[in-house]
Amino acid sequence: MSIGSGKRPECVAVIGVGVLGACVGWNLSRQGAEVVFIDALQPGEGVTNWSFAWVNASNKTVRKSYFDLNVAGMAAHREVAGTIGPDSWWFPSGHLRWADDPAAETKLLETAELLARWEYRVEVFTGAEARRLEPALAMPGEVPVVCYPDEAWVHGRHLVSRLVGQAVEAGAELRSGTAVCDISTGTDGSVRTVALSDGTRLDVDIVVNAAGPHAANVAALVARQLPMRREPGVVTRIDSARVPIGRVMHAPHIEIRPDGDASMVLHSREIDALIDTGEDPSELARMLHESARNVVPELSSSRIAETRTAHRPIPADGFPSVGAVPSVPGYYEAVSHSGITLGPVIGRLLATEIVSGRRDAMLADFRPERFPS
Ligand SMILES: Cc1cc2nc3c(=O)[nH]c(=O)nc-3n(C[C@H](O)[C@H](O)[C@H](O)COP(=O)(O)OP(=O)(O)OC[C@H]3O[C@@H](n4cnc5c(N)ncnc54)[C@H](O)[C@@H]3O)c2cc1C
Repeated sequence: MSIGSGKRPECVAVIGVGVLGACVGWNLSRQGAEVVFIDALQPGEGVTNWSFAWVNASNKTVRKSYFDLNVAGMAAHREVAGTIGPDSWWFPSGHLRWADDPAAETKLLETAELLARWEYRVEVFTGAEARRLEPALAMPGEVPVVCYPDEAWVHGRHLVSRLVGQAVEAGAELRSGTAVCDISTGTDGSVRTVALSDGTRLDVDIVVNAAGPHAANVAALVARQLPMRREPGVVTRIDSARVPIGRVMHAPHIEIRPDGDASMVLHSREIDALIDTGEDPSELARMLHESARNVVPELSSSRIAETRTAHRPIPADGFPSVGAVPSVPGYYEAVSHSGITLGPVIGRLLATEIVSGRRDAMLADFRPERFPS
């Protein structure tokens, strides 16, 4: 495919190849569009690689339409796994959650009741029963443990690599290590070209802004203001000769999940709250590791491998921004927190909108127009 030499019909530049860009581009390619993936880094190395990567809707009860979108995201993951195969990226382990103070425990059980009313699968165990599922856990025998059996975790980088690899085999182009630094529009205001930091200029019909935490910078290239929240999080990977738990879990003060055969991922909202105090990241990692060892004593022989502070890509009101921006014909957004959960459903809906113009009702509350340009 020759780029930069004349305009090709329905050529879509996907700007940013994290989980969202990969899902949009893979779906576009399957629907027959010509796709060029562009990433300043390598595919999947952005926040997608530094995510807790828990696929869920149980944490999304703030608005019913958002919950429904996340449930659709969980179903879309299962469909993608059925299409490309689940190996090395899809881990439908189920999720466990428990608390160690009465207020948090009451909230946990109220949420479980609400979710059961919304027909979301939930089971409540005692600590003793949960330990039969996960013998490495240290928890009181009588504490209520909520289990969401349909939840999962994803290896984000592996998923991105599989989707992009398949799209490239089908004819898509991948340009990595080069950033989009300009988008020019024609006299009618529609998207015409993208300029890359390596000096290339590509003629395109459509651009998809899937630049994650940098989405506001890409929006600015078409003179659009996309207001984003600042919400950093710390993620630590630990090496462990044996991975003693099988499920993704929210224990008191710490979130833990497997990350392969000899690695686990740790995160905590309580530790995220310390980022802006200027605390050294290695100290934050040490605190995460200590909390994890309190819950899984066998991790005393594990060691911290790497730690990163990553920025959640969250539009200002906390909800995704997905779809066309009518004031800039040819410009689309795919920007969202919970992008691991939502990637496959956003990818499918947005690709259909780009190819057929059909705007799905499921995205009605999450349209970019709510942030006027
Ligand atoms: C601590 C933490 C925990 C999280 N936990 C969860 C969770 O449990 N479940 C869940 O569903 N979600 C979770 N998330 C959110 C989720 O990780 C993100 O929503 C998702 O990874 C976003 O993917 P993305 O493709 O939009 O962004 P990214 O993966 O960051 O991809 C964007 C890409 O765009 C590229 N880029 C940027 N600017 C340009 C440019 N100008 N030109 C070319 N390329 C560019 C970057 O290099 C990058 O590769 C968490 C996030 C954090 C930080």
